[in-house]
Amino acid sequence: MREPLHALLASIRACRACDAVLPLGARPVVQAAASARLLIIGQAPGSKVHASGVPWSDASGERLRDWLGLEERVFHDASRVAIMPIGFCYPGRGRGGDLPPRRECAPLWHARLLAALPQIRLTLLVGWHAQRAMLGARAHPSLTRTVAAWRDYAPAFLPLPHPSPRNTAWFQRHAWFAAEVLPVLHARVRDVLAA
Ligand code: SF4
Repeated sequence: MREPLHALLASIRACRACDAVLPLGARPVVQAAASARLLIIGQAPGSKVHASGVPWSDASGERLRDWLGLEERVFHDASRVAIMPIGFCYPGRGRGGDLPPRRECAPLWHARLLAALPQIRLTLLVGWHAQRAMLGARAHPSLTRTVAAWRDYAPAFLPLPHPSPRNTAWFQRHAWFAAEVLPVLHARVRDVLAA
C-alpha cells in the first residue's frame, strides 16, 4: 500500500537526523502533491531558501523559472510541480561555495517520496548531485557530458546545469545549452503540465 503523501511530508519536515551537524540546524524544504506531473530534483537549499523555507526562492530559482517558462504561481503549485532536493536542508558553506547535500536524506526519504508521486511525467535533474544520484552508471563522468547527452535520458529525465549565478562562465562556454536544450525543456514542461 502506498504511504499517504501528507504523512510522509510531515515526517520529512520534522526530520532532524543530522541537525547536530547542520550549521543553521535542520529545516527540510520540499514541495509535493500526489497529482504533480513535473518533478524538479536539485541539490540542496541555499541559505536564502533555508531562511524563507520556500524552494528556489533565490537567484538560481529565478533563472530556473525563466528556463522553464513558468511563473512563480505555477512553479510553486505543488499540485503540478514537485520539488525534491537531494538533501532537504541547507548543508552550510565550504571554500568553494555551498557544501554537498547531506548523505543522510537519500536512504531515509528519496525512495518513499518518489513512490508517493505516481503522476510524474518528467524529472529535471538540476546539477551534478541530482544527475549522479538518479542516473547512477548512466551518468557520464562530468555534468557537461551528461547534459550534452540529454537525448539519452528522454523522455523520463532531462539533466540540466545548476542555474546558479556562479555558473555564468559555464553558460557562456556552452552556448549549445541555450540554443539546443532550453527550447526542448520549455516545450516539454509546457506539454507535461498541460496534459
Ligand atoms: S538533511 Fe535530510 S536527513 Fe538531514 S535533517 Fe534534513 S531532512 Fe533530515
